[in-house]
Amino acid sequence: MPVTIDQALDHVLKTARPSGFEEVDLLASFGRTLANDVISPDDVPPFANSAMDGFALRAADQQGDRPRLRVVAELPAGHSIEEMLVPGAAVKIMTGAPLPPGADTVVQVEATEMAGDDVVLSAPVVAGINVRPAAEDVRRGDLLLSAGDVISAANLGVLASAGLARVEVARRPRVAILATGSELVPVDGFPGAGQIRNSNSFTAYGQALDAGAEPVLLGIARDDAEVTRTLLRRALEEDVVVTSGGVSVGDYDFVKQVQEELGVERRFWGVRTKPGKPLAFGVHGETPVFGVPGNPVAAMVTFEVFIRPLLLSMLGRSLVWRPWVWAAAAEPVRRTTDRPELRRCLVHRREERWVFTTTGPQGSGILSSMAVATGLVLVPTGFEGADTGEPLPVMLLSGSSDERPPFPE
Ligand code: AMP
Ligand code: MG
Repeated sequence: MPVTIDQALDHVLKTARPSGFEEVDLLASFGRTLANDVISPDDVPPFANSAMDGFALRAADQQGDRPRLRVVAELPAGHSIEEMLVPGAAVKIMTGAPLPPGADTVVQVEATEMAGDDVVLSAPVVAGINVRPAAEDVRRGDLLLSAGDVISAANLGVLASAGLARVEVARRPRVAILATGSELVPVDGFPGAGQIRNSNSFTAYGQALDAGAEPVLLGIARDDAEVTRTLLRRALEEDVVVTSGGVSVGDYDFVKQVQEELGVERRFWGVRTKPGKPLAFGVHGETPVFGVPGNPVAAMVTFEVFIRPLLLSMLGRSLVWRPWVWAAAAEPVRRTTDRPELRRCLVHRREERWVFTTTGPQGSGILSSMAVATGLVLVPTGFEGADTGEPLPVMLLSGSSDERPPFPE
């Protein structure tokens, strides 16, 4: 009895264990997942400094309309002054330079005129302006970033300003990728009669990288129990195993049999969904082992729906789901099977609502449709066909969310 998409996902996610962590250089942490909360060891900025090029002074000294002060020093960024500013004096200061002791205000250069060695202010002084206080951005001890955050360009900057040159990130789970099928030749091989090029290893490679994992390509196993056993045994050394093909009911579909021989405990075989029905899933020790169908679209869709959230969970990501929206059908939707369907579609924003059009023929070998699709429309079995305007849930194929899409049963 095939399981529902949700039941299958529950089985899969139960096997998620943390991938561990490693310390890397700050630059290398870009795109990685933070392993721990990060507390700032420092104030940012570390000292009060000038937000403008101008003159630092004590606001309390100034009276009248056009105060005149003696300029006693010049202070570029990267330098500092230790002496206390005396009453009636000003320091010429550049943006980013620390305020001299005693100064509390900076008058920007545009609001001043020089008169010999003195500066004349052209407007009354507003106490405290143009000063960036110490720790205005971050205070020492503040939570800078949380475990599970993905390091973005802004995060790199935040970590750099706090002086964090090394970062603890989640280890990338290693995903073994093995294509099966005697008809397959490598991309640079010449397909003879009845042969096609292996594309599943490439899509899985990209999907694994995109999910923060490290793909380990193990090539092609022809449909032979012995060859499949040897390569699957090798694959079981990695954190997650993904084979494609050979899980249906054909005479040469050896993958399930070989999984069993090698001690993979079956959790399910068969999911009520189209595409992706023959998906086989089990565990070997603690290692999740996927046998995804060989059809290129089915292989990609099952990776997207089942394997991606697992990998993101292993990384400790807080957002493991794709975002989803209600979208109106821009064309009549007719069901073609008694299974829930995940149809490739294009999602657009029109007059303040989401609409979708399917990518056209939904054959599970039409891989080019995956290249243009921006979403998968989730068509439930109870759905009796809809004319234009009927809304259905659409899972987007980019971005991430904490809300699990409403997979149909
Ligand atoms: P299977 O699941 O092994 O029955 O394969 C289903 C279909 O997917 C067949 O038409 C295969 O030729 C095709 N197929 C299987 N593996 C791959 C692959 N790695 N790349 C491209 N097509 C494949
Ligand atoms: Mg096959």
